[in-house]
Amino acid sequence: MDSSNSDKQNNNQSVNEDPAGVDNEFCPGFKDVDAFVKYGLGTVVAATKASASLPQVGDEYDLYRSFPGFQEFCETQGDGLLHCMSQIMHHHGCRAHMRDRNKLTGLEERFDLVVDSNDVILEKVGILLDDAAGVNRSQQPVMPAGFQPPKIVVSSWNRKGGDSGSGRSSETFRLLQAKNVTRPQLKFREKVDNSNTPFTPKIFVKPNAIKPLPSCRSQRPEDLDVPAALADFIHQQRTQEHVEDMFAHPYQYELDHLALPENLLSKPEPQMYKPLAETKCSFIDTLEDLVAVNEKLAKTSEFAVDLEHHSYRSFLGITCLMQISTRDEDFIIDTLELRSELYILNEAFTDPAIVKVFHGADSDIEWLQKDLGLYIVNMFDTHQASRTLNLGRHSLDHLLKLFCNVDSDKRYQLADWRIRPLPDEMFQYARADTHYLLYVYDRLRVDLWEVGNGQPALLQMVWHKSKDISLKKYMKPLFTEDSYMDLLRKQKKAFNTQQLTAFRLLYGWRDKLARQEDESTGYVLPNHMMIKISDILPKEPQGIIACCNPVPPLVRQQVNELHLLVQQAREMPLLKVRHAWGGSGGCFCPLRFIPWISL
Ligand code: AMP
Ligand code: MN
Ligand code: ZN
Repeated sequence: MDSSNSDKQNNNQSVNEDPAGVDNEFCPGFKDVDAFVKYGLGTVVAATKASASLPQVGDEYDLYRSFPGFQEFCETQGDGLLHCMSQIMHHHGCRAHMRDRNKLTGLEERFDLVVDSNDVILEKVGILLDDAAGVNRSQQPVMPAGFQPPKIVVSSWNRKGGDSGSGRSSETFRLLQAKNVTRPQLKFREKVDNSNTPFTPKIFVKPNAIKPLPSCRSQRPEDLDVPAALADFIHQQRTQEHVEDMFAHPYQYELDHLALPENLLSKPEPQMYKPLAETKCSFIDTLEDLVAVNEKLAKTSEFAVDLEHHSYRSFLGITCLMQISTRDEDFIIDTLELRSELYILNEAFTDPAIVKVFHGADSDIEWLQKDLGLYIVNMFDTHQASRTLNLGRHSLDHLLKLFCNVDSDKRYQLADWRIRPLPDEMFQYARADTHYLLYVYDRLRVDLWEVGNGQPALLQMVWHKSKDISLKKYMKPLFTEDSYMDLLRKQKKAFNTQQLTAFRLLYGWRDKLARQEDESTGYVLPNHMMIKISDILPKEPQGIIACCNPVPPLVRQQVNELHLLVQQAREMPLLKVRHAWGGSGGCFCPLRFIPWISL
């Protein structure tokens, strides 16, 4: 399919548009809700990015802070922001003393205020959307105090349309999410393996091998209904192979022995990118087309790669799209449709004679392994080059502005990439992520050469850092009895023994349910709600519901289960736990001194 065909995908775009906004302006300057949301998202993403590019503590921040001008600027800006936030909070009738230094001791309390206000605002949004849809929430008893047969809760949730149906009232808070997206997992040929077992590489053939694949890996497990990890385990028992082979990076040896050709360590002649309009761009969603892409890639000496990923409605996350650009062509590959076939690209991806250019590949390397069984041998990471050159800001849009004078628009970065057909705007956005990257790679190498005084040391440094990233191994999140401690350390509230127990039990419940339902832990029960429930220890199921705003569907469904856990926690002998981690210097774990809490 060429780029003109992407218009075809546009047809689906207006599914969620508000028909009321077509004739009258939705609000001044915005013709409809969609336009407003797009603008709003763009602004939010820009603000987030701007704040992310501020010097970080431990980075250059300490240096910058030693300049009074910088300090003063930060304070003025900070005050301005707090004032602005206070006004918004005040407008919504929330506690809004963000700037009152007498009432607030620090960041933590301000953060709590923001979380509370967000809850209030989102609740209002939910009610208004319900009103607009003709649903009167107050007529629906949410949870009568004390008892509520779980069946009713389940059926009311089902009646609202379940996961992919028209379920709306519980769904309204996910403003960044598209509605009615079918779960791509349902179509995966190999089931997702969320079991609490370590990840084993999904590789059965190894192109460009110097060291062959251990025999335990070189054939597919016969029975694909068995989770991959279990199949591997059985196989390993059978073949008596060493465990290390099962979990090793399949291309460790090749990467360790990668020698760069001389021409990559000298000053290159930049090759200008082709204008978008003159470049063929194909959407690849059939095996036949993928094979053709593979053949084209095998003939190149370099190509650029990027991925888009979705992590909210899946436990381990899903790679949704792969963008590849050669010097002549762009390809947008549907990694949902071709998930089980994409491994064929290992032929070019692991060919040491072909350079693969990525920007900020840390996550990409893991996603490629996790979902597609793909590995990279010979990578150049433009993000690492930007860092080595000390360009100050290292984002892709900064490099695009600097070298290509292209203003990129990052508003779709957090879009729901599972949507099919892919809306044209998202298609074009995805394309721009790799289209210019080979030229950026050329320009960065010129700069590395020149800043390095005509010596290859800086270039070598970037190749080396990129190789280290290629060597990263995807690690599946594993649940242990003390997994909850990491999250607990991040929140600074002093919990007593009952609260701690509740937190530990809720954490375990959430992890188990997320794996089972293939949802993210954030979808099952967001951290701040879990902390609130543990803090308050509600006596009634309704109290648990009241801690959550909006109420996550699975919490509503399993509120009685949760209530039992909270009750179990309340039965613990009450002891105040001195809380010494994080802030005040000490770093001992108080739980160790409480024998009846099993860690
Ligand atoms: P990119 O490399 O910028 O195209 O981003 C690749 C993927 O990373 C996106 O599809 C998102 O899933 C994720 N991502 C990028 N930026 C962010 C962010 N600021 N917050 C959360 N996820 C992000
Ligand atoms: Mn990327
Ligand atoms: Zn991207």
